[in-house]
Amino acid sequence: MTPLIDTFDRVHDNLRISVTDRCNIRCFYCMPEEGVKFQPREEILTFEEIERFVRIAVTMGVRKLRLTGGEPLLRKGLPDLIRRLSAIDGIQDLALTTNAVLLAEQAQELYDAGLRRLNIHLDTLDRERFKQITRRDDFGRVMNGIETALRIGFPVLKINAVAVKNLVEADIVPLARFGREHGIEIRYIEFMPLDAQGIWDHGKVLLADDMIAMLTREIGPLREIPDGDPRAPATEYEFADGKGRVGFIASVSKPFCLNCNRIRLTADGKFRYCLFAIDETDMRVLLRTGAPSPETDQAIANAIRQSVKDKWIGHQINTSKFVPPPRPMYQIGG
Ligand code: SAM
Ligand code: SF4
Repeated sequence: MTPLIDTFDRVHDNLRISVTDRCNIRCFYCMPEEGVKFQPREEILTFEEIERFVRIAVTMGVRKLRLTGGEPLLRKGLPDLIRRLSAIDGIQDLALTTNAVLLAEQAQELYDAGLRRLNIHLDTLDRERFKQITRRDDFGRVMNGIETALRIGFPVLKINAVAVKNLVEADIVPLARFGREHGIEIRYIEFMPLDAQGIWDHGKVLLADDMIAMLTREIGPLREIPDGDPRAPATEYEFADGKGRVGFIASVSKPFCLNCNRIRLTADGKFRYCLFAIDETDMRVLLRTGAPSPETDQAIANAIRQSVKDKWIGHQINTSKFVPPPRPMYQIGG
């Protein structure tokens, strides 16, 4: 089959799959503090349905997968899904994004199932600020998770830190120092308008350029690393002394939509051509209509292709036209 190309000539080979909308913490920029209504179990795709969807997507050129959520480690039997997906011919890369609260218990099993790439979400090394951001007191468990992952030796281990202005300025440098010490790349992600309570505004975004200035001043000069993959969202730098790397996902100050190669499947089986998309395509209904057959697979492939064809040029965060997506981050899958 021909690859998934949209009307702006972008080729889509990177699928992010949310395996649950549940989470064990409550980051304020993602979830509401209380009263979260999770999807009923029967509305969440089964492993068989996810695997079937991926097998179809692979025939259309998908090569990279990332499992996310909600918190993916809350999904029972996740190592089984990792085993199934990494065995699919054509999948070259399988990664997981986690808050690491449950990682110490699960890391070995995930590694044994074939997982090699891990992104751990941690915004601060300060226990009190962790509590303030996540509304839970799990900093110690996250640190245990990171230590366990380091001990096991995941070849790719990165930390995702969400950069919110007037909140995490004091964390930017300590995180980079921690990364330098342990060989972990820190990826700073500009706060995006995907929070459940609509608190985002431009003034709350800690900008990549400001973080680069802080790191340069406090630690030393940074050298941009020439783009290995120009479609990767992060701009990466290494410290000029050769010790450590940092990356910046500047979705707000430097949108990278024109290089986007990503498509998404939510835990309840909705296909999205963009994190910020307003429209979704219901794949669950297609996955559950009729038995798997070349014809029903074709119907799913057609729906994927149509959605990619409809993909917009990009989010309009920096214009008055911007409309936040109807679902917050935890329901989409970051
Ligand atoms: N629970 C896992 C975690 O926290 O890593 C996976 C799902 S979470 C939605 C995926 C990533 O989204 C997180 O690593 C976090 O860095 C990022 N994120 C969540 N809300 C965000 C926001 N409003 N702006 C920018 N990044 C956000
Ligand atoms: Fe949970 Fe991840 Fe959202 Fe934080 S960012 S509330 S860990 S899903």
